[in-house]
Amino acid sequence: MKENWSGDSPRHEQDHAYEEWGYDTQFTRLLGSKGWNTMSWPREYGGQGRTPYEQLAFMEEIQQAGAPMGGRGDIQAHALMAFGTAEQQAEFLPKLARGEITFCLGYSEPGSGSDLASMQTTAERDGDEWVINGQKIWTTAAEKADYIWLAARTDRNAVRPHAGLSIFIVPMNSPGLTVRPSMAMYGHTFCQEFLDNVRVPASALVGKLNDGWTVLTSALATERMMMGSFIANARAEFERLVRCVRDKTVLANDGAVRDRIGALAAEVEAGRQLFMKSIAMAEQGKVPIHEAAMSKAFTGELTERLGQAALDILGTGATLSEDAESAIASGRFERLLRYAILTVIGGGTAEIQRNLIAQRGLGLPR
Ligand SMILES: Cc1cc2nc3c(=O)[nH]c(=O)nc-3n(C[C@H](O)[C@H](O)[C@H](O)COP(=O)(O)OP(=O)(O)OC[C@H]3O[C@@H](n4cnc5c(N)ncnc54)[C@H](O)[C@@H]3O)c2cc1C
Repeated sequence: MKENWSGDSPRHEQDHAYEEWGYDTQFTRLLGSKGWNTMSWPREYGGQGRTPYEQLAFMEEIQQAGAPMGGRGDIQAHALMAFGTAEQQAEFLPKLARGEITFCLGYSEPGSGSDLASMQTTAERDGDEWVINGQKIWTTAAEKADYIWLAARTDRNAVRPHAGLSIFIVPMNSPGLTVRPSMAMYGHTFCQEFLDNVRVPASALVGKLNDGWTVLTSALATERMMMGSFIANARAEFERLVRCVRDKTVLANDGAVRDRIGALAAEVEAGRQLFMKSIAMAEQGKVPIHEAAMSKAFTGELTERLGQAALDILGTGATLSEDAESAIASGRFERLLRYAILTVIGGGTAEIQRNLIAQRGLGLPR
């Protein structure tokens, strides 16, 4: 990080990290050239096969430096290793490793978010091609992606709705695919996509036909696990808050502030342990379902509590956003609170995670 990320240079100023969090193509390629994009991949796929502790240490170093996480393909890479054909693995894994391509996730639709199995986008076979029609929504950074990892209905007559879904890799420059970006309140774009007779070759299908739910749930578990990794971000912000409190004697000596900070320290550590449990399972070839849900729900809501605590403790100066001159810590805490919407809702809401914990983890009825 010392060699490659400077908080001083205009492009890499501290604030840039938030604006482009995780989506800095140039930095992702740089990480790829050093082999860091594949640190969680098994060695047989050219990865580093690092331990959960090493992965977390790496993420924390990145966050401490205020740099973007890099890599936007871990979800697809792990799914391709498990379900992709040899051709798909050969085509996409090396490019993902080098940080040369990015994917966006096309699951949610206007009427299907939590209840994903009800999705309406269809893919119909026509000779050697699939013809896709429908609409996707809330797709993070679709306007910057090279491919959309798209779920579509391939059997309208399936008895159970999730039995008739399949996953496709669709190039974002496909004729008939229109992308409409809008700005989310946390300062990133997310998009709507309209698919109007979009044609992809038969080889674009990932996994078995009509078995997309298996691919999708495994990829969702990876996504939840990765969202649990936001704990590295929460820890960096927490430490920033502690530095602000230390710098002000009146705050540092305030019993109520110390009480809140102490409780948050314990929560940040709990979030790290939950995250490590999920990656340790993934490393053993298991799919963490309720474990990843615990990590995701806890870290998501912790990010929100942390942002709120920072604003309460530091006062009105912390509620100012980055463009205000007297904003405390360049408006980072105010931004953190806005950003919490991604961690609480994206990748499946906290309520859905709690359902997973209750049903899959505790055996309670649906
Ligand atoms: C910042 C951000 C980025 C996102 N990026 C992507 C992306 O890249 N790709 C993508 O496909 N999607 C993305 N999403 C969409 C996200 O996955 C959905 O918003 C989420 O799954 C919720 O779906 P919904 O918005 O349709 O809400 P709904 O499913 O309509 O839920 C509305 C409310 O009802 C609650 N609820 C629904 N069902 C239940 C239930 N069974 N039990 C208890 N409570 C329930 C929910 O918790 C929520 O509070 C993103 C969302 C956000 C906010």
